[in-house]
Amino acid sequence: MPELPEVETTVAGLRAVLEGATLARVEPRRADLRFPIPVDLRQRLTGATVTGLSRRAKYGLIDTDRGDTLIFHLGMSGRWRIDPAQIGAHDHLLVETGAGRLLALNDPRRFGSLDLVRSEAWESYSPFTRMGPEPLGPDFDAAYLARMLAGKATSIKAALLDQRIVAGLGNIYVCEALNMAGIAPVRQAGRIGARRLALLVESIRAVLTAAIAAGGSTLRDYARPDGELGYFSKQWRVYGREGELCGCGTPIRRRVDGGRSTFFCPKCQK
Ligand SMILES: [Zn+2]
Repeated sequence: MPELPEVETTVAGLRAVLEGATLARVEPRRADLRFPIPVDLRQRLTGATVTGLSRRAKYGLIDTDRGDTLIFHLGMSGRWRIDPAQIGAHDHLLVETGAGRLLALNDPRRFGSLDLVRSEAWESYSPFTRMGPEPLGPDFDAAYLARMLAGKATSIKAALLDQRIVAGLGNIYVCEALNMAGIAPVRQAGRIGARRLALLVESIRAVLTAAIAAGGSTLRDYARPDGELGYFSKQWRVYGREGELCGCGTPIRRRVDGGRSTFFCPKCQK
């Protein structure tokens, strides 16, 4: 499942093909993904020029010179394919540039989404309106986190997954950051001291930055024909490593709450 670093890497890969490009052909191949695809998407994007690409949380944004912004979400299984050798049943949107590059948005499980908003109003797109700051942005720091967590009786893990507190963090990176910061996932969010919160913010930034760097280093593979954007292998500290040894020599544990697994070291994380 694509998380923030995969989306960031995807946007970087798309930027290499799309920035400044004219969209010669835009062809949705079905009416909906998780939600309906705007019926005027083809008409509004065909012939437009891409002026910029960016990311907000786990959404990619593609701006055009017509004042429209295409917003995509990769859901559980979405990926962009570059110059695919063949178009498959799960390629739900085709985009061809004036230079003859072809992009296909592939999403077998169709939990992703495609939407079109006016660029000047992108922040009022409904998933964004109540979203917290970007974890890699300037507004996310220890003082902010302390304010948001004050008095909170929920676990720190649940608080970090709450998109209103911080945007775009998913299960994997929350497990990794809590391990790096030495904080137990079940620790009550409102009862973590300032020094440990500062370490947590640093850890969140570090795990995301390392993953984005790992994704970026694979970008030259994407640029090849038949490349796929958005997935790359990473080395986890605790995620998916139940029973293996933490750096401290203690076996990593897994607990399951509400169907979601948490991986942690019972010795390092207090
Ligand atoms: Zn440990």
